[in-house]
Amino acid sequence: MRSLLEAIRSGDNAGPLSAHDAFALADLPAEELSPLLKAAAAVRDRAFGRTLTFSPKVFLPLTNLCRNRCDYCSFRKSPGQEGEWTMTPEEVAETVTRARHAGCIEALFCLGDKPEGAFSAYRQTLAAFGHNSTVDYLYRAGCDALNLGLLPHTNAGVLEAQEMEQLKRVNVSLGLMLENVSPRLCAPGMPHHKAPDKRPERRIRMIENAGKLKIPFTTGILLGIGETRRERVESLLAIVDLHRQYGHIQEVIIQNFRARPDIAMATAPEPDDYEIAHSVAMARLILDRDVSVQAPPNLNPGGTALLLSAGINDWGGISPVTPDYINPRHPWPHLDMLRAQVESLGYQLAPRLPVYDRYLDMEGYIDPSLREPIARAKARLSRSPGAAIHIEQAHLEAAV
Ligand code: SF4
Repeated sequence: MRSLLEAIRSGDNAGPLSAHDAFALADLPAEELSPLLKAAAAVRDRAFGRTLTFSPKVFLPLTNLCRNRCDYCSFRKSPGQEGEWTMTPEEVAETVTRARHAGCIEALFCLGDKPEGAFSAYRQTLAAFGHNSTVDYLYRAGCDALNLGLLPHTNAGVLEAQEMEQLKRVNVSLGLMLENVSPRLCAPGMPHHKAPDKRPERRIRMIENAGKLKIPFTTGILLGIGETRRERVESLLAIVDLHRQYGHIQEVIIQNFRARPDIAMATAPEPDDYEIAHSVAMARLILDRDVSVQAPPNLNPGGTALLLSAGINDWGGISPVTPDYINPRHPWPHLDMLRAQVESLGYQLAPRLPVYDRYLDMEGYIDPSLREPIARAKARLSRSPGAAIHIEQAHLEAAV
């Protein structure tokens, strides 16, 4: 495989890896990792240049109630449990307003899966807000965020096609982590056993429906939840298949598991540098060149050089005003620090919209009512490309 990787690195072989070659590289020994990383970094440089992007965002956990119980999750709560939280419309508006003043562009709504199907107390909360479903509430919250100057992007778990159609009217993009295509992870004793919405076929169906609906889409895989390297490759190939059918996958997140004491997987090993770098590089080489490869900087503190060397071109959302509620022990990096690290490696850091530019002019991808808010957000970005995002992150570290 060394000659193939050299051909990719030099540009003589410009296409994504075939499934056959991807599987051949799935269990590459650690001492042979270097050519893989060089090939992936060269592909990144040719496709995205020397710029690493991020989305200045505010994280809005509309509700942390969830009907699933994933073994690695520290976000979900049940009604009555300490830390249970469903944001009121007033809390959404206050947080979005603060974020707008801090220079954010994206309103990320990220929440538990189908809580109204499991909890009557939550149904009563929704009713008190004037809604009978989470999607209705998300629609209203999306309208409010747009009116206050931010662009919504929502990850609400598995959604039906008509729910995505509704949310497309107030979201510039939607997301759902594929996580992994392996049904093995749903077996008894595995991390998705108590999570009906983590059945791979349900997630693939949603991503496919998003493609049919022309929704710019973010997905990704999880590392370190009991999957094999071959299953990671199978998952990336499934994403490639969906993108080649519909063209809607804008970015793929390579998200590494981080342990903490209050989860079922408290003592599970975290993926090491080899696993992370190998997976990022494989994603870069397997995915089509128009798809961004992203890794969360807060889950990889000290990993900037490693992730760059493996081929990422994007850091995802970074919030100057709210913690990462999914991983609250891991604060986002200070942007000035991240910028300095990136520049020391010969790259530059630039903010972007939560929808990638190529979708803005593609027929049917953006609801016409969103064109004006997107134009205003683009104007803000061009006026203050990162410099005006106020760093208020010290309190976030104190809060977790
Ligand atoms: S990971 Fe998502 S689906 Fe699983 S329990 Fe946590 S919030 Fe629910």
